[in-house]
Amino acid sequence: MSGDPFDVVIVGAGSAGCVLADRLSERGNRRICLLEAGGSTRHPLVRIPAGWAATFRHRDFDWGFNTEPEPSLDGRPIYWPRGRGLGGSSAINGMIYIRGHAIDFERWAQAGAEGWSYDDVLPYFRRAEHQETHRDTFHGSGGPLHVQDSRDQRPIHEAFIEAMTSLGIPRNADFNGADQTGAGYYQFTQRSGSRWSTADAYLRDARSRNNLQIETRALALKVLFEGTRATGVRIRQDGKERDIHARHVVLSGGAINSPQLLELSGVGDPARLAALGIPVVHALADVGEHLQDHVLSKVVYGTHEVSSINREVQGWRLGVAAMNWFFRRRGPLSAGSALCGGFAYTRDDIDAPDVQFFFASGATLFNANGKIKALPIPAITCAVDQSRPESRGSVHIRSTRPDEHPEIRANYLATDNDRQTMTRGLRMIERIFNDKAMQPYITTRMSPGPALDMNDDDALLAYLRADAGTAYHPTSTCAIGKVVDSGLRVFGLNGLSVADASIMPSVVSGNTNAAAIMIGERASDLLSQQLQ
Ligand SMILES: Cc1cc2nc3c(=O)[nH]c(=O)nc-3n(C[C@H](O)[C@H](O)[C@H](O)COP(=O)(O)OP(=O)(O)OC[C@H]3O[C@@H](n4cnc5c(N)ncnc54)[C@H](O)[C@@H]3O)c2cc1C
Repeated sequence: MSGDPFDVVIVGAGSAGCVLADRLSERGNRRICLLEAGGSTRHPLVRIPAGWAATFRHRDFDWGFNTEPEPSLDGRPIYWPRGRGLGGSSAINGMIYIRGHAIDFERWAQAGAEGWSYDDVLPYFRRAEHQETHRDTFHGSGGPLHVQDSRDQRPIHEAFIEAMTSLGIPRNADFNGADQTGAGYYQFTQRSGSRWSTADAYLRDARSRNNLQIETRALALKVLFEGTRATGVRIRQDGKERDIHARHVVLSGGAINSPQLLELSGVGDPARLAALGIPVVHALADVGEHLQDHVLSKVVYGTHEVSSINREVQGWRLGVAAMNWFFRRRGPLSAGSALCGGFAYTRDDIDAPDVQFFFASGATLFNANGKIKALPIPAITCAVDQSRPESRGSVHIRSTRPDEHPEIRANYLATDNDRQTMTRGLRMIERIFNDKAMQPYITTRMSPGPALDMNDDDALLAYLRADAGTAYHPTSTCAIGKVVDSGLRVFGLNGLSVADASIMPSVVSGNTNAAAIMIGERASDLLSQQLQ
């Protein structure tokens, strides 16, 4: 490739960035550069679905962020894994494929995000998808993103779903279809029992195109400007700094790194930038504000040895599980996170489910090295998160060093509604576990301990504060209407857009990967129009 400017430089080869790189380069008439701070993600820990937990704090695959001490979580900092490397967080996530509730996108549109209503975004979810089971107007076939059902079905999953239905939660065969509400099985971004990240889905063919240059281990340090026009990106690669010039710069670094890069580049709250000695290119106080995440807590029960996968993934049995995955792509290693669960109402006066349940026939803890490990005893877990939290936090740089982790304040459980929704959700889990369908499986409750009275509001809230953490879904730090317009252009600047989970006006009701991919798909059309 010549040294001429690129048409587009994309910062971050994650869920949204890989989509953009593929779609913008597929017609061959534009020169695209895709920058990624991490490297290749062709590694067994990434490929094998159950390996996801082992990527936590892995220096090759995880940025390993931590929040500041969370005021409503007993002052605990919360560990926030974020993917680094081709595929970004889609290379280390739990692979659950959930789009969100139609009401989310209606709320976005009502708040001014023109062109982002459910009818507007559904074609992009479909365009991305190759759905292996469901064939109807909600799903796509032939798209790059393989979505398949679990390959580790067990009777205990069926019992859990049955127990959910006995609480009046209807059975739902497809959370991504006509209605999200209900109990059932999750779908996964997997192909033949292996992880299918956006690097798999979108870069396999695209990387051989002459008009797409992919630079790995290239950390973007700042956006370059001439006046208010972005002209490229300064990167550090192999210890050397150089500038990459482009007609248009797109930030797809995710909800933590995109606002970080804007602030490092002089776009943000003038007082904050001045305090760090960063010259202001454009004053935009909302950069890094309005952060949302799903707060998550859990109930763990003891079970009989045969009912928990814990023993199947430890000791000599791990070898059996590995053979099962290697030869058949089945068994416990073909599973990422929760295999079933669903969406339910904790109260009647709302128009969409307000909690999501995740059931796993195993239980884990963080060991002394901060690594996630299966418990040595048989146990099962159901976690709950709040679909549409009110609490909002922030992400801001603490220095001018691009490699220093920013200050993250999730601000979980800041409102009474959020606290009450979560405690009601935990109580629902207790009822599900105690339904007759689960009786053959459960022994004693392990977390919260058996002595805790689940009807005692104060005790349950205390447990929530001590137990809760992240569902790994940060969004909204460069939100439409606050930092970017509905066309994803940064307000007040030219040639600069953001396209990743940070642009969501509010977090979707469910896992965020599918929505980030949809954003990449839609951004590619918006940019194509804008670049003409
Ligand atoms: C552990 C975990 C489990 C999850 N489980 C699920 C799940 O089961 N289902 C689901 O739907 N969602 C899940 N998520 C969330 C989902 O994966 C994310 O919401 C989604 O991937 C975000 O996409 P993105 O494009 O915004 O950012 P990312 O995919 O995080 O991509 C950002 C990319 O930009 C790169 N980058 C950042 N800064 C720079 C820089 N300065 N220079 C160069 N490159 C840079 C990063 O290395 C990364 O590759 C999970 C996330 C995690 C971390």
